Amino acid sequence: MDARMQSLLRRQLLNASAYPVPDSRGLIKLDAMENPYHLPEDLRAAWLASLAGAELNRYPDPRAHDLSALLREQLRLAPGIGLLLGNGSDELIQLLGIAVAGNGRPVLAPVPTFVMYGILAEALGMDFVGVPLRGDFTLDPDALLAAVRRHDPALVYLAYPNNPTGNLFDDAAIHAVLRASSGLVVVDEAYSAFSSRSFIEHLGIHDNLLVMRTLSKQGLAGLRLGFLMGPKPWIEQLDKLRLPYNVNVLTQVSAAFLLRHAEALERQVQSIRQERGRLYAALSRLPGLTPFPSEANFILFRTPAGRATEIFQGLREGGILIKNLSGTSGLADCLRVTVGTPDENTAFLHVLETLL
Ligand SMILES: *Cc1c(COP(=O)(O)O)cnc(C)c1O
Repeated sequence: MDARMQSLLRRQLLNASAYPVPDSRGLIKLDAMENPYHLPEDLRAAWLASLAGAELNRYPDPRAHDLSALLREQLRLAPGIGLLLGNGSDELIQLLGIAVAGNGRPVLAPVPTFVMYGILAEALGMDFVGVPLRGDFTLDPDALLAAVRRHDPALVYLAYPNNPTGNLFDDAAIHAVLRASSGLVVVDEAYSAFSSRSFIEHLGIHDNLLVMRTLSKQGLAGLRLGFLMGPKPWIEQLDKLRLPYNVNVLTQVSAAFLLRHAEALERQVQSIRQERGRLYAALSRLPGLTPFPSEANFILFRTPAGRATEIFQGLREGGILIKNLSGTSGLADCLRVTVGTPDENTAFLHVLETLL
């Protein structure tokens, strides 16, 4: 390698690989937890009309007043709770890392979990401590609390529900982690639209609790809008690190418009939840497969031993792209499928059945 690169770039960067995004052209895309539906036809014209008024010549409103007020109202945030918008929640994870990097304390999360926590921690020169979940993907509270005491992490991430396992962690264990942590605990509710529980109601009760959400998984992945909620003094500090115009004009206008027409997206979410039930039941009936219960818009399932990669490739040859997780620690023989439209799910089940 180039000597200048060697001497200039951080070791973690040189050792890292770029976040892989597979080529999905021509395939039924069930790999990335996207909502499979476009905006309903009857909304599209009104949405485009709202964009016609957007002032592309001006910088975006750095505080996104209209959108923030709408979110605060819909989430019923108390006055003492701050709200920080990001260019997707990925950006907020990065911003949290920037805020605490350099103090020598690591980022900690139960694993397997959302990979960006570790990738972004290490990109900022922080250590990442992964505490293994139990075999059934529940939290191991003793191991987790011991790790929190031992490593004193600056940040603990709890994806709730967890990606890629789909389950919600035990609430009592999360409260215990909040009490045991001298750092911040971020409950990442990227899948809140599909889930039966939330930690939003506990905001302000623990002074180190932050709750993060995103519009990506409920149909607006292309907009890139995530948001972080927590005690106002914390949000005010973090806000100093936010790039002033991180949420662009088109996203601000579109997200506000769509939040005002939330019932249309809600109908899509309902149908995805219904299909999740059908998909789970169908996977349970297929020979040799073990699906895991999910509170999100995807299902993790275990294939017969040693066959995950072959099944993943067979699906791709059959025109279906899902996610192969069999190389991830704790997920031997596991694949993850995003819930699609009824037709997409039926096509997936059909090809899968021929492979078993
Ligand atoms: C998808 C995902 C995110 C990232 O969401 P964006 O807002 O699209 O950046 C964050 N956390 C978890 C757990 C996710 O699965």
